[in-house]
Amino acid sequence: MGATPAGLEARALVKRFGATTAVDGIDVSVRPGEFFTVLGPSGCGKTTFLRLVAGILNPDGGRIAIGGADVTAAPIWARQIGLVFQNYALFPHMTVAQNVGFGLAMRRLPRAEREPRIRRALATVRLEGYGGRRPSELSGGQQQRVALARAIVIEPDLLLLDEPLSNLDARLREDMRSELADLQHRLGITTILVTHDIHEAFSLSDRVAVMRAGRVEQVGAPTELYDRPANRFVAGFLGPVNEWTGRVAGLSGGEAEVALDGLRACRVPALAEWREGGTATVVLRPERLSLAAVADHGAGGGGPAIVGRIDQVAHLGNLVNYRVAVGDRPLLAQTPAGRSGRFGMGEAVAVSWDDADLAPVAA
Ligand code: ATP
Repeated sequence: MGATPAGLEARALVKRFGATTAVDGIDVSVRPGEFFTVLGPSGCGKTTFLRLVAGILNPDGGRIAIGGADVTAAPIWARQIGLVFQNYALFPHMTVAQNVGFGLAMRRLPRAEREPRIRRALATVRLEGYGGRRPSELSGGQQQRVALARAIVIEPDLLLLDEPLSNLDARLREDMRSELADLQHRLGITTILVTHDIHEAFSLSDRVAVMRAGRVEQVGAPTELYDRPANRFVAGFLGPVNEWTGRVAGLSGGEAEVALDGLRACRVPALAEWREGGTATVVLRPERLSLAAVADHGAGGGGPAIVGRIDQVAHLGNLVNYRVAVGDRPLLAQTPAGRSGRFGMGEAVAVSWDDADLAPVAA
């Protein structure tokens, strides 16, 4: 490919369908060469956003620029975009080579120029020698690779992927995920993926935008979103969390002392909207909660411990999930399933955490 990758700028993007506002004022900047994912629950507007970027839909408001050029009013064929859909959308009556070459034929490239590019694209997705087959003679994974080859053969400025792996079985999805990561890395092509699958988003992306109800809730690198979710929705959408509320006992130097209900006081970075005497919410991932036998308490963990009682145990193979009752508060803990540190139902445990692992969240 070799060309300088293009970035994408979407500003105040709006799309309505009758009374539904599918995209409700989206601002997103995708850096050149970046693998960027739009993640969110079903119906949040991900596909609509992607279709606006592709030029399949016209926005009701806002603007879109690709590689610095405003394309808001440009039709789909005038944008250099490669598209891959969940259902592959291959033409059944065409051969693999004809499918891959479709975009080149549409662009009226002479046959002699088309053929080497089709061969290269098929080699890129490891399908050399499959050019003469029909889509019905290929497996699901192979069909999806043809769809990818068809998208990259035009050397697009942007590669747009709409749930491209969700029709594949779990094993194949895993393989295709790593192929996709390699391919994107090799080609350096700016890629936007739309998915509701957190693992897919996290394993592939440089940055992720979490969407809810037509809006972007937070954009960041996967670890940043996971460890420092901006609000309760993002925290909960990305995996199980302990969500604790408390009273802001003091504010100073950008930090807050929060007396967590039924637990202990903690120090966390303060949110701008927090007020002294007001309520505050913090979250903690279960794997950040330390458990110790009450007799050993003090040997590990971060802050001072609180004593609780194990009231649920779930073995997940390499991990164990515990629910610990502290008074009437259920806390979630997750530990590696080693030989040490196993606890039984009803056992008293010392629960502790490091305040640095707490994330303050907006309601
Ligand atoms: P999914 O993960 O289920 O595909 P999504 O996040 O991609 O969901 P969209 O397909 O963008 O969501 O839909 C966003 C909202 O807009 C939904 O409420 C949907 O019903 C509505 N919508 C989407 N396309 C149309 C359309 N062509 N006409 C009317 N409503 C639409």
